[in-house]
Amino acid sequence: MLDYKLRLVSILIVLTVLVIGCLVLDYFHLRRRPWRPGLYLGILGIAGAVFLTSNAVLPTSLFYGAVVYQGPSVEKLVALTYDDGPNPPYTLQILDILDKYSVKATFFLVGENVRTYPEVARTIVQRGHQVGNHTFHHEDLLKLNRTQMDKEIDATTELIEAATGVSPKVFRPPHGFRDLVVLEQAQERNLRVIQWSVMPRDWKKPGAEVIAERVVRQVHNGAIILMHDGDGLNHGGDRSQSVTATELVIQRLQQQGYRFVTIDELLASNR
Ligand SMILES: [Zn+2]
Repeated sequence: MLDYKLRLVSILIVLTVLVIGCLVLDYFHLRRRPWRPGLYLGILGIAGAVFLTSNAVLPTSLFYGAVVYQGPSVEKLVALTYDDGPNPPYTLQILDILDKYSVKATFFLVGENVRTYPEVARTIVQRGHQVGNHTFHHEDLLKLNRTQMDKEIDATTELIEAATGVSPKVFRPPHGFRDLVVLEQAQERNLRVIQWSVMPRDWKKPGAEVIAERVVRQVHNGAIILMHDGDGLNHGGDRSQSVTATELVIQRLQQQGYRFVTIDELLASNR
C-alpha cells in the first residue's frame, strides 16, 4: 500500500497515525499541566489531511502539479467535453447535434467502453472530434498502485489507437482525482491532464433545462465544460438529459457569440 513516492493515501495513513499519537500524548500530558501541545499538533495533522485531500479532488487546484482547467480568456471560445463514452445511443445522438450546429467537441473515452463499441469511437474521430484517455475501468486512481495505473492508461490508449487510428494527447483522471504520482504517470506519457471550469452536474439528471441553465450561468471565455455521454462502465446508462441539454447549451451560447472548439484548438488559441 505504501508507495515510496508520496501517494496521497500513504500520507493520509501517516497523518492518521500521527494524529492518534498526538491525541494519546495530549491525554497523558493533560494530567500534569494545562498546555496541550499534543492536541494542537493533532489538529494541525487533521487540517493537513483535509488540505491535501481537497487539493486532490478540486478540479482547478494546481497544488500537485500542472493541470489544465480552462483555456486562454482572450476570445469567446469554449470547449465542450464528454466523459465516460462511447455509450450508444447517447454518444451518437450528441454527435448528430454537434454536426447540426457545426460544433467540435472532445470525448474522454473509457477503455472498456471503447472495447465494447469501437465503431462508435471511430465515428467520433471521423466526424472531426478530439478523443482523450479516461482510463480503462474508470477507477479512482488515488486507490491504485503504479502497475495498476500503468495498465489503466496504456490499455486505453492502445484500444483508442486501434479503434480510431488516433493516439490521445489528453487525459482526464476519473472524477478529476489526482496526486503527484497520477500526474507523473500522465507526464511520462506526454498526456496533458485536462480538468474543467464549468460543471453542470449533468450526471445527477436534474433535467435538461437545469443543466443548460447551469452552463450558461457559469460560462466564461476559455471555459472547459464537463458533460457526460456515458456513465462509468454502465452500458446504455441514460444520458438523454445531457443530449437535450447539449442542444440548448449550443443554441444559447452561440447566440451570445461563443464558438465551440476542441481542447487542442482551445489551448492553441493564444499562440
Ligand atoms: Zn468519468
